[in-house]
Amino acid sequence: MDYTFKETSMTKKVATKKPKGKSTPKKVVKKIATKKTDPKTQIIDSLLELIRVTSTVVPDDVAKTLMKARAQEEKNTTASYAMDIINDNMELAKFKSQPLCQDTGTVIFFIYHPPGFFQNAFKELIKKAVVKATQKGYLRQNSVNSLTGENAGTNLGEGHPSIHFYETNKKEVEVKLVLKGGGCENVSAQYSLPDTALGAGRDLEGVRKVVIDSVYKAQGKGCGPGALGVCIGGDRADSSYNAKKQLLRKLDDKNPIPELAKLENEIVETCNKLGIGPMGFGGKTTLLSCKMTHANRVPASFFVSISYMCWAFRRQGLVLDAKKNTIKKWLY
Ligand code: SF4
Repeated sequence: MDYTFKETSMTKKVATKKPKGKSTPKKVVKKIATKKTDPKTQIIDSLLELIRVTSTVVPDDVAKTLMKARAQEEKNTTASYAMDIINDNMELAKFKSQPLCQDTGTVIFFIYHPPGFFQNAFKELIKKAVVKATQKGYLRQNSVNSLTGENAGTNLGEGHPSIHFYETNKKEVEVKLVLKGGGCENVSAQYSLPDTALGAGRDLEGVRKVVIDSVYKAQGKGCGPGALGVCIGGDRADSSYNAKKQLLRKLDDKNPIPELAKLENEIVETCNKLGIGPMGFGGKTTLLSCKMTHANRVPASFFVSISYMCWAFRRQGLVLDAKKNTIKKWLY
């Protein structure tokens, strides 16, 4: 199959298509190389570009939501200054091609591939791209050994980067990347229902109460305004993972399950009335979005997991050209 590492002649040309209408940030700063290269090197280059764009440019849907929230804050308040600083930060990172935040986070890859794909070989290419991205400063030397505290300086180590593969029926490979900051990870949460202290039972009303409680407890820590991924049910591990995967959804999409779509909107509305505001400075913008899913559970347990993402919502994805391994399309 063409999407793997066959020797093909290819031109390393990352972006050729002119953006329609207003140019998007990633297209403004995209670099174009011209020399011919081998397929593995081309894949590494495409992955490196994915890391660079993810680390330095907030995806369009997030930028749009942040700017809408900024416009709603009352002028000359601490909240509006905070939103202005967030805006300046985004602009600077985009045009200087430098990370949006000094914490470039846990590096989490999601690979969607056709049958017959060489997962282990692709993993090695991802690792090479991560090392290169670290050398170039798109990723901070962030990953340390949890037993010894040693920092290899490469962002490689036990369990890092985090790489998840999914087989699909599509002919092309899609690669999605999330850079998950530590501060927002610290205010992520998991509840076991019923929670008597919160009066939260094993139903959607109970879910609503614990999700709002998690945002209330964060009080702007984890660099709000935040965005939530939530999973109702599953075991502890799958519940947390599925909550995090909700961060792959665009902020302006609609949950196909009407009860969850309603609950997502209610949670955002309620949280934005808490008065916590950007960075906890007060104001109207506490939460940008809430995306929910569910997973089967056993009768003995009812977990609700909440993955909290900061305003520096770094998520991007691409489709690899099946023959050339260049970037065929950006996903966000
Ligand atoms: S929570 Fe997000 S914005 Fe805040 S320091 Fe961490 S990565 Fe940066």
